[in-house]
Amino acid sequence: MVQRIAMLSVHTSPLARLGGKEAGGMNVYVRELTRELGRRGVAVDVFTRAQSPHEPHITEMGANARLITLHTGPAAPYDKNQILDYLPEFVGRVRCFAEDEDLQYDVIHSHYWVSGAAALELRTMWGTPIIQMFHTLGAMKNQVAKLAAWSESDARMEIEGRLLREVDAVVAATPLDRQQMIWNYGVDGANISVSPGGVDTQTFRPHGRLAARTRLRLPVAPAKIVLFVGRIEPLKGIDTLIQALGLVVARRPEWRRALGLLIVGGDARTSGDQWAGEQQRLRGLVATLGLNDVVQFVGSRPQHELPWLYSAADVVVVPSHYESFGFVPLEAQASGTPVVASKVGGLQFTIRDGESGFLVPFDAPAAFADRIEQLLDDAGLRERMGQAAVRNAARYSWPTITDDMLAFYNKVERQRSPVHTIAPLGVVKAAANERACRTCEAVQLPVPCPLLAACPTSS
Ligand code: UDP
Repeated sequence: MVQRIAMLSVHTSPLARLGGKEAGGMNVYVRELTRELGRRGVAVDVFTRAQSPHEPHITEMGANARLITLHTGPAAPYDKNQILDYLPEFVGRVRCFAEDEDLQYDVIHSHYWVSGAAALELRTMWGTPIIQMFHTLGAMKNQVAKLAAWSESDARMEIEGRLLREVDAVVAATPLDRQQMIWNYGVDGANISVSPGGVDTQTFRPHGRLAARTRLRLPVAPAKIVLFVGRIEPLKGIDTLIQALGLVVARRPEWRRALGLLIVGGDARTSGDQWAGEQQRLRGLVATLGLNDVVQFVGSRPQHELPWLYSAADVVVVPSHYESFGFVPLEAQASGTPVVASKVGGLQFTIRDGESGFLVPFDAPAAFADRIEQLLDDAGLRERMGQAAVRNAARYSWPTITDDMLAFYNKVERQRSPVHTIAPLGVVKAAANERACRTCEAVQLPVPCPLLAACPTSS
């Protein structure tokens, strides 16, 4: 029986502020699953890298759940591709931590390709089976990238292919996500299972449009509020939504003064990188279309505020070009608001077309405009769809998803391959000028920590 899990989320912390460049659905998934497993008495350590010099080494996330923050590379946000340079050091620190606390993990659950690369190294040393989740696939992102600058690296593609072939088990979010792995990476898929994400229906529940708007100090009637929530990046198709709003305003000029598109996510203060560049691009589009009085960039909001925002909206729009799963539409539905979304990826599974929202072709402003206009025009339809949306979202509860995942961990652990239970030392290469691990020195293990000479210092 699995009792202790090493969860790897190398490039971003499950407790990170959401809605910025690198923190979204994956962070939510790791956080919720970890806490739910902890409540069942399964010990989980989530390993992530520090992004500022003052982050605590160990943070309690809940019963039996800890976040272990490791200082590797610059203690600042940097490009995820650069993380590969520091991965050997990261792996060394994970190993030192486990040696130091005398812990043995039953499974490694790794998230995103960067963590998968670390998991392969750890399996070589520990013999622990790996369950890999990608959350997004580089190949799919590249298929929809309109500019070369938005493409994913060759290293990512290579590592994703290797992981699909070499890990013990892969978990896809939907049957389509599974097929996309098979088609794009030429694997047989024998080790790929399917398990979706969830939504916390205690947090995300309908608050009523009037109460929510009053609380948020938003205009009440006859205001019409269209809402986008998510990271501000090209893949999210926010330009399609802005163009759609332009069409709605052109068709229904009488709505203009009452209509507002709120874009929640991103941060107007950051500049200079691609994400800020996307925000600039979108602002330019808003100005060109003459929509400055209609579109408002709100910036990212803490998740506990989102149920109120979703409840305040008449319609939530998810215009993504690709989503392997998509937490925002589930949260919006759980909050009782219909969703208009692109007919891509996981959105086709979590939204019931014509019942809890509408699915339309991606990158098609006119199709989005049609459905947004229809919903804004018809309070009865919104009401019916909102109720269906709550019922639909209730199918994705974290306790059920955690039960399934725990059963899956046990299955993978029982079937672990003896091939990997070799522990060659020296796999972790440390830079020449690094000192021995302080934690290893301090505990003075009866048998010296095998990494003593090679492990980077833990301070
Ligand atoms: N989110 C948030 N505040 C924001 C923007 C987003 O808390 O300002 C959260 C949102 O509630 C959701 C997640 O970030 O849980 C985004 O997940 P999704 O799967 O929709 O998109 P991803 O970021 O994974 O592409």
